[in-house]
Amino acid sequence: MHSKAGPMNNEQVVALLLELARGVEFLDDNPFKTRAYRKAAMAIETQERSVVELIENAEIHTIDGIGKAIAAKLEAWVQRGDFSALENVRSALPHGFDELEKVPGLGLKRIRTLFHEHGIASVDELLEHLEAGSLTGVRGFSEKTRAKMLDAARQIISYRGKYLIDATLGHAREIINQLEQGGIRAVLTGECRRGMEIYTHIDILVEAVPSWVDTAQKILGNDFVWKHEGEQLLVTAPGKPPVRFHPTEPEHAISALFMTTGSDEHLHNLRDFASEKGFEIREDGIFHGENRVALTDEREIYEQLGLQYLPPEVREGREIELLLAQQAHVPELITRHDLRGILHVHTLFSDGRSSLLEMVKKARDMGFSWIGISDHSESAYYAGGMDIGKITQQRATIEQVRATVPEISILQGIEADILSDGSLDYPDEILEMFDFVIASIHSQMEMDEARMTQRILRAIRNPYTSILAHPSGRLLLSREPYRVDLSIILDEATRHSVAMELNANPWRLDLDWRLVYEFISSGGKIIIGPDAHSREGLEDIEYGIMMARKGVATPQVCLNTREEKEIRGVLKGSWT
Ligand SMILES: [Zn+2]
Ligand SMILES: [Zn+2]
Repeated sequence: MHSKAGPMNNEQVVALLLELARGVEFLDDNPFKTRAYRKAAMAIETQERSVVELIENAEIHTIDGIGKAIAAKLEAWVQRGDFSALENVRSALPHGFDELEKVPGLGLKRIRTLFHEHGIASVDELLEHLEAGSLTGVRGFSEKTRAKMLDAARQIISYRGKYLIDATLGHAREIINQLEQGGIRAVLTGECRRGMEIYTHIDILVEAVPSWVDTAQKILGNDFVWKHEGEQLLVTAPGKPPVRFHPTEPEHAISALFMTTGSDEHLHNLRDFASEKGFEIREDGIFHGENRVALTDEREIYEQLGLQYLPPEVREGREIELLLAQQAHVPELITRHDLRGILHVHTLFSDGRSSLLEMVKKARDMGFSWIGISDHSESAYYAGGMDIGKITQQRATIEQVRATVPEISILQGIEADILSDGSLDYPDEILEMFDFVIASIHSQMEMDEARMTQRILRAIRNPYTSILAHPSGRLLLSREPYRVDLSIILDEATRHSVAMELNANPWRLDLDWRLVYEFISSGGKIIIGPDAHSREGLEDIEYGIMMARKGVATPQVCLNTREEKEIRGVLKGSWT
């Protein structure tokens, strides 16, 4: 839903047009209309100027792909906040349409059948019918299909109320910025501070200056609903993760930050240490006897307990964390500053949305000294994979871009599909041409565990493979990982000097950080890949760094930290 605060941006307009297109398509009244809405959405997506400005200057009609009827609709949205046409379409759709569309195998036609003939308007109702067996015998709903839908429906329900890292941190930072600008001191805490793949809410620690709630309400505006929950305040806005505000007195800010950061398990473990040393960790701070310990820095809490400081990312309550802290063996965790290069980058040569030049410039502007381009290989036809002609053409483009942007080195790599037998998508003569080869699974994910494991092992043993990408294949809140024995895969990767990708795309964050520490401890190397499909996608690297830190990764185990003169050899050969 569009927020009434502030003018609409192009992205919001595009989203509404696509929603309208989908709705009209489902209602099946007019295929021309559907196409026209999609065309208009595309036209705006590639438009540099804002829709608001185009309308104000009466220039919206001049955009190719926007006819009179759609221009009128956009004017209604942007100028009058009139969404009645959209509301009419929405109200004619099954109320759970968005979720029904996510069920694999449920196209518009089947959703129509379910809706019109069985009165099924949501995933919950679908689940009920499947469980009761009432779709048995219905055309297009074979036993196998129904079993798959049953799993999918349960999964979709389990994903509710959960948010990915980009949406969560984006929303959290926006709120903090607004509060700070309004003079209220606020910082991220809880899981947002520790870093996590999936979130149910945002925790923000806020300095409880007099009447801060009134001020904050004014700053954040009317989209937010405020609710007291004991000491805390729960603040919700439609479509956004709920925010939990933890008000604190300025003099308790340090211990409050520590306590709200958690995790519960970490605090529980620390309590045991504390009591041995005569300290007590309580809800309202750290105490020595009856005296509250005055703190100027969170580090002092750990010092007092005779422990090395643990950064927020490694406070998950794992045994290893406390052990490292006790033995003063917590290493310097990797930071953004340590990274020299970035790879796993798509361009217009396959399914990227930015040109090679744009990607290279953006990487340079982010301070990287090398970038590895890796478009899709030939069999990824759905992603515009490259044949030999395109590879040669890309090579020529890279030469040109080198001349234009000499400050950064460009490596030509490939994201090669692992075929069902574990071979890579190109013959050796072609693989040899690349500076690096990322091997990935993008198809046939339904294999049993033994076959999938063998398939990936074979890809790792391929002498041209430099990196195994997104090793579990999970898409967070959308697709479960495929069945594979990752411990065997990780061992074999280390043996063959194949780096494991820590895919930084918010949907993936794969390799799972929970597996990172053991992997690197036994000699494995990681590389953080944004899997960027646009310039902005390169910024996702931040999430990968967060996950690497949770895996207790140091600069040494992460190949992004290698200098340009070193990285080519490292990716082509072995690490030592
Ligand atoms: Zn991929
Ligand atoms: Zn990719």
